[in-house]
Amino acid sequence: SGSAARRAAVKAVSDYAIPHKDFSEPLGELFGKNVFGPTEMKARLPKNVFRSVIATIDEGAPLDPTVADAVASAMRDWAMENGASHYAHVFYPLTGLTAEKHDSFLEPSSDSSSMAEFSGKTLLQGEPDGSSFPNGGIRSTFEARGYTGWDVTSPAYILENPNGNTLCIPTVFISWTGEALDKKTPLLRSQQAMSVQAARVLRLFGHTDIDTVVSYAGAEQEYFLVDEHFYYARPDLMSAGRTLFGAPPAKGQEFDDHYFGAIPERVLAYMIEVDRELFKQGILAKTRHNEVAPGQFEIAPLFERSNLAHDHQQLMMTTLRKVAGRYNMTCLLHEKPFAGVNGSGKHVNFSIGNKNQGNLLNPGDTPHENAQFLVFCAAVIRSVHLYGGLLRAVVASASNDFRLGANEAPPAIISMFLGDQLMDVFDQIAKGGATGSKESGTLHVGVDTLPPMKADPGDRNRTSPFAFTGNRFEFRAPGSNQSISGPMVAINTIMAEAMDHIATELETAVAAGTDFNDAVQTLLTAIITDHGAAVFNGNGYSDEWQEEAATRGLLNLRTTPDALQQFSEPAVIEVLDKYDVLSPRELASRQEVYLEQYILSVHVEAKQTAELGRTTILPAAQRYLGELAGVAASLKAVDLPWDTGTLTAISGLVTELLGALEQLDAALAHEPEGTSMEHAVAARDTLIPPMTAVRAAADALEGLVADDLWPLPTYQEMLTVI
Ligand code: ADP
Ligand code: MG
Repeated sequence: SGSAARRAAVKAVSDYAIPHKDFSEPLGELFGKNVFGPTEMKARLPKNVFRSVIATIDEGAPLDPTVADAVASAMRDWAMENGASHYAHVFYPLTGLTAEKHDSFLEPSSDSSSMAEFSGKTLLQGEPDGSSFPNGGIRSTFEARGYTGWDVTSPAYILENPNGNTLCIPTVFISWTGEALDKKTPLLRSQQAMSVQAARVLRLFGHTDIDTVVSYAGAEQEYFLVDEHFYYARPDLMSAGRTLFGAPPAKGQEFDDHYFGAIPERVLAYMIEVDRELFKQGILAKTRHNEVAPGQFEIAPLFERSNLAHDHQQLMMTTLRKVAGRYNMTCLLHEKPFAGVNGSGKHVNFSIGNKNQGNLLNPGDTPHENAQFLVFCAAVIRSVHLYGGLLRAVVASASNDFRLGANEAPPAIISMFLGDQLMDVFDQIAKGGATGSKESGTLHVGVDTLPPMKADPGDRNRTSPFAFTGNRFEFRAPGSNQSISGPMVAINTIMAEAMDHIATELETAVAAGTDFNDAVQTLLTAIITDHGAAVFNGNGYSDEWQEEAATRGLLNLRTTPDALQQFSEPAVIEVLDKYDVLSPRELASRQEVYLEQYILSVHVEAKQTAELGRTTILPAAQRYLGELAGVAASLKAVDLPWDTGTLTAISGLVTELLGALEQLDAALAHEPEGTSMEHAVAARDTLIPPMTAVRAAADALEGLVADDLWPLPTYQEMLTVI
């Protein structure tokens, strides 16, 4: 069934044969093959140079420029041995995408031949013409230069192409004034700030061999796959990354038969190739499975230091997209490609720690470790309560609005889930400390007496945006399409603030002669009393929670303009400035860029809705209307009965559709004046309602118009034919 184009697409899908490839090289041997990492460096660099580079990677020491030439030449030799003719500085502009500018190694030499050149200076600094990247007013055109600088903490790697390879150098992207134009610079800065404060807390707990504290991140990536034949027949998927039309299929996700079900063979073949590609880049892809919705899947790598996890996550998104094409599929990373079925998130799991002190969010075996663990947990509680608005703002985007704040978990309210055991402990602490624990008798929170806690992932609360899962927190609000930089910058910074506060309180108490155990007890009681409002273990999806959260004074920011307003809050500006993560100007520029992106996305969708509505949906409906009217007239002429119900319904919907299209056109024609915030609010309030109305009429028509006239591939086709 279906229109001719749809029938052809379905036939192409069923005729598709999975390409089988020679993957005999064991995965283990592939790992890190394309990476110029420590092993490769050690083998190729003079000892002192190697040591200097490793110090920079491990301790964040500035790179000694005198070693740059040695590193560059070793790197070039390695790259050329691996088939690279070009190198690229890779950077992460505020669009959330990955940008790269390629240059040839070849330079002219005096005898009119050419030779491969790649100096330390070229390694350390590049000058892409960055003038067309959004900068939110930081650069005016007369000072359009942006500089890329090698980020030594992230290893260079080879990007393979059947026609030739490229050496990729991860970089930061800054203006000539040193201001951050990218998503990587603030991540590195926030990491440093967090480390300093964490060390203060560790010192109080008597540690002496304190290694640099880092944050670790492991991001679970959800995505949809659709066959290319359907993708190219859906202009909305192509321009907006999501379907702007489409009635829900008769069979959706309610049978729960897809989740963790057998992976379709074609998809598995794809996943196997994705994993291999990632392995070569030193990314340890760990899990792969079907997700809740039909056509939806997930991949999760092993967690890493968040600066590296960030770059790898970007590479993972690129790889997911690229490899899909090799199997005639398109990978959709949009947060809500299909209305009425589960959306896609990117759950960012994070912890903090280091080699010597281990994972600081892991409940330990001894009372001492546990008191320390509770202090770091308390830091998270304080952070989430004081800066929930910032956490919401860093995950704001037009597409993520369809998850947060819509009828989907997690909600737009930023609260945290602690699980039963930890909740019980903090409940007792709130009551004053020396109390009985559920399981273990008397509990006094102190470094000497706290009983061991089981590392208990607890029952998983899937509706909480911020959940403790045994030895880490899982931030579930980030969208599938987003960079993990924003979330990790926010987490590092607000943790720095909380640990600064905690260290100062404890240092002051101890200096005043208070017993350390008592000081910890007092501190924990104060934090859970002042900031416990952010803790919520119930169903975050319920209406009651919306009311309860309001009485607790928690923010409920449903849309991107509301969320981005948080970047103007004095407390947010101050915390980012105080810890040297983003200056007020850098923060304002981000607010500006993200608002522009929101306006742009809503406009693209509005225009696409208007166009598809008028040129594709309306003609189909009108054709069918004409057909029905013809039948009605013929039957009437011979005095046969005719039920006019369908005719009337379609006619009514066509009128509705036309009306909504007119409203949408009028809204699109209106050029609002004012600030970017005012534009964003106008886009939200004047474009989205008529878009929704156009879609409602169109989706209702889909249920009435003869299937052979319906022009767009249906949800059923796109979601079940893989
Ligand atoms: P889930 O059961 O939540 O779906 P997954 O196995 O899909 O779990 O993903 C969990 C993610 O959390 C992985 O990326 C994993 O590496 C990461 N993770 C595990 N432990 C930690 C930790 N201590 N710190 C940060 N991330 C972690
Ligand atoms: Mg998972």
